[in-house]
Amino acid sequence: MESKEKIIITQRVNSNIDYNEQIHIPNFIQDHGVLLVLQEPYLDIIQVSINTEEWLNIPPENLLGQNIKCLLDSHLIDNIRQNLAGYFEYINPVKLSIQCGNEVRLFNSIIHRNDGVVILELEPCEDKSEPDFSQFYQLTFPIINKIHKSANLHELCEIVVQEIRKITGFDRVMIYKFHPDDSGEVIAEDKREDQEAYLGLYYPAYDVPQVARAVFSVKFIRTIPNINSSIVELLPKFNPLTNQPLDLTFSVLRGVSPCHIEYLDNMGVMGSMSISLVKEGKLWGLIACHHQSIKYIPYDKRVVCEFLGQIMSIHIPMREQNDNLDYKVTLKSVQSEVIKIIYESEDLLNVITNIGSKLLTIVGATGAAISLEGEYHKVGKTPTDPEITELINWVNNQINTDIYSTDYLPKIYPSAKEFKEIASGLLVLEIAKLQEVYVLWFRPEVSQTVNWAGNPEYPIQIESDGTMKLCPRKSFEQWQEILQFHSLPWQSYEIEGAQEFKTAIVGIVMRRISELAKINLELEQSNSELDSFTYIASHDLKEPLRGIHNYSTFLMEDYGEIIDQDGREKLETLVRLTQRMEDLINALLFFSRLGRQELHKSTINLNKLIENVAEVVRMSKPDASIEIRKMDDLPVIYGDKILMEEVFSNLINNGVKYNKKEDKIVEIGYEETEESASTIYVKDNGIGIREKHQETIFKIFKRLHGKDKFGGGTGVGLTIVKKIIERHGGKIWLESKYGEGTTFYVKLWNQE
Ligand code: ADP
Repeated sequence: MESKEKIIITQRVNSNIDYNEQIHIPNFIQDHGVLLVLQEPYLDIIQVSINTEEWLNIPPENLLGQNIKCLLDSHLIDNIRQNLAGYFEYINPVKLSIQCGNEVRLFNSIIHRNDGVVILELEPCEDKSEPDFSQFYQLTFPIINKIHKSANLHELCEIVVQEIRKITGFDRVMIYKFHPDDSGEVIAEDKREDQEAYLGLYYPAYDVPQVARAVFSVKFIRTIPNINSSIVELLPKFNPLTNQPLDLTFSVLRGVSPCHIEYLDNMGVMGSMSISLVKEGKLWGLIACHHQSIKYIPYDKRVVCEFLGQIMSIHIPMREQNDNLDYKVTLKSVQSEVIKIIYESEDLLNVITNIGSKLLTIVGATGAAISLEGEYHKVGKTPTDPEITELINWVNNQINTDIYSTDYLPKIYPSAKEFKEIASGLLVLEIAKLQEVYVLWFRPEVSQTVNWAGNPEYPIQIESDGTMKLCPRKSFEQWQEILQFHSLPWQSYEIEGAQEFKTAIVGIVMRRISELAKINLELEQSNSELDSFTYIASHDLKEPLRGIHNYSTFLMEDYGEIIDQDGREKLETLVRLTQRMEDLINALLFFSRLGRQELHKSTINLNKLIENVAEVVRMSKPDASIEIRKMDDLPVIYGDKILMEEVFSNLINNGVKYNKKEDKIVEIGYEETEESASTIYVKDNGIGIREKHQETIFKIFKRLHGKDKFGGGTGVGLTIVKKIIERHGGKIWLESKYGEGTTFYVKLWNQE
C-alpha cells in the first residue's frame, strides 16, 4: 500500500455541514422484506411497499384500504394488538405464517409505532421455532462475563469485536470511536486474515454525517444486507395521515442513501451492519461490520448484537477510567496536595508561591500564568505578558463558560502561531471576570502523524445550481497527515483537576475581592470627606480674605496721602496678592464642586459649541492675530454642555495664550477612534511643552512659568479639563514639540 505524506494546511472539516440528505425519510425500503403502514385503532392498511406481490403474492393496490384481517388471522392480530398495548419493542419479533397464494410463508414481523402510524415490517424467516429466551441467555451470558472481566477499554473492545464476528460471521468487525472533532478512529478490529487491516486508521468526520449520527443516537442497530438491493418505493408515496414522507428512523428495512451505497461500494463492502455505542446519552462510537458479499443477519442474532452493544456502552465509562491509571493516580495525589496548600494559604499570592511547579502538574501542562491585580505570575514556559493579555481578550470574546480548553490554539487564534512551541494547547479558568483573575495553562506543539483512511480532504462538491453534494471518497488507501499546531489533547480528568483547583481558590479570591471592596468604600468615603473639606475651607477662607482686601483698599483710599511711596507700593502688592488668592480659592471651589455636581448630559453639536468658544476667545484678545480653524463636520458628542464649553474654552485659550508666534493658529478637528467614540484634537503653533512636563501640567496649581508670564494664571485649568473628561468616561492626552506647538487629544463618547 502506497502511503503519501502531506503537511496539513487545510482546515479540519466541519462536520456540522448540512448535506441536504434526509436519511430518515428516504421514501423507499430495501428489498429483503415488506413494509405495511397501519392506521389505528382498526389497523387498516394505508400505505405499503410496492413489493408485496413478490413476497405475499398480493399486488399492493389490493392491500391498500383493506384491514389487516385480509392478511392475518385473528389470533395473530390479537398478538399484534397485545404488543402494541405493551412495550412492544421488547417483544418483537412476532412470527407470522401468511398464506401467500398456494403456499404458507413464514415471516418475522417487526412492529413499531412512529409518525402517528403503526409500521409493520415483514422479513422472511426460515426458522419456525419461536424465539427462545434460554438460547439467548446461553449465548450472551459467557460474553457478558468476559466483558465484566475486561480490565480496560482496549480489552473490552477486543472482546466485543471478536464475539460479534463469531456470532455473525462478518468478514470484518471494527470498533470505530469518535473524537471530539467528530473524526473517527478504528480502535479494535477482528477480520478475515486475508483482508488488509484498518486498525489505527482515522476516518474524516463526514464519513458519518451528522444526520446519520442523529439516527444512530436513537436507533441502535442498522443492517444493509445487500448494497445492490433494488429500491422499493412506497404506495402512496407519502404517509396519508401527514401527507409527508414516512419517518423511517426506526424501520429495519429503511432504504439506504445512494451516497452511502457508493461509499460502501468504494470500500469493497456489499453487506454491512452497524451498532451504536452510546456513552452518557451521546454517540461515542460504532461497532461497524463489513462483508464482501451479501450478508443477511436474522433478527434474533441482530437482537443479540444490539444487546451486546448496550452492555458494552454501559462499560465504556468505567473502562475508560482505567486507562492511564498510573498517571491518573499521580495526578490525583498532586491535586490533593495543591488543594491542601490552598486551604492553608492566606491569600492567592501565598498560594502561587507555595504551590510552585505543582500548578503545572495538576493538569499536565508545561507552562501556567495566573493573572491577578494586573500582574501575571508565571510558572514554566509561557507566552509574554502582552501576548497573554491579548489571548485573555480573545478568550473573553469567544466563550462564555468559566473553563475553556483547546488543543489546537494556533488554528483558531492565528496570533498563537508565534508561540506555538509554547502554547498550541490552552486551558483557561475564569475565576473572577470583573477583577480579571484568570488561570491559564499551556502545552507545546506536538507534531502528530495521523493515518487517514484515504485523503481526508473536503468531500463536498458545489453543483451548478448552488446546492452541495457529498461525494464519497473513492480511495481508502492510507494517507498520512502530519498535524501541525496541535498539542496533546486535554483529558477529561485533567480538566476536572482544573475545575477542582478553581473551586478551592475561589474562596480565597472572593475574600480578597471583598477586602478590596471594603478599601474602595473607605477610599470613596475619605475622598468625599476631602471634597467637602476643600469646599468648606475655601468657602470660609473667602470671607477674611475679602476683609483684608477691603481694608487694604480703604487704607489706600483714606490714608494714601499720609503713607509714603514705599508704603503705598506695599499696600498695592497686598491688594494684588489678595486678588490672586481669591482667584485661586475660586478655582479650588470650582474644582471641588466638579467632583460632586450632577452631570446634565445631552447630545451636543460640537460645531456650534466650538464656534461660540472661538468667538469669545477672539473677542478677549482683539489686538492679536488669531486664527481658529475648525473641521466642518465635527461629530456630535454626549455630555454636559456647560462643562464641555469649559473644556474647549480652556484648551483653545491655552493654545492662544502659550503662543509667541505673530500669527497664532489653533486647529480643531477629530478622528473616529472606535465605534461610538471620537477623538477631538486641539492643535496650536505655540511654545510647546517639554516631555518632562507633559504629565505634571495636569496637576492642580501647576504652572510652568512665573506667575505673571503669559498673562498669568492659576494652574488649575488643565486639572479641571481632565476631571471633566474623566467624569464623562473619556481620556485626555497630548503630543508636543517644544518650540513648535502642542496637540491635545480628547476622547469622548458620541452616545449615552
Ligand atoms: P494656567 O493656564 O492657568 O497656568 P493650565 O492648567 O491651563 O493653567 O495650564 C498649566 C500649564 O500648562 C500652563 O501654565 C502652561 O505652562 C502649560 N500649558 C497649558 N497649555 C499649553 C499649551 N497649549 N502650550 C504650551 N503650554 C501649555
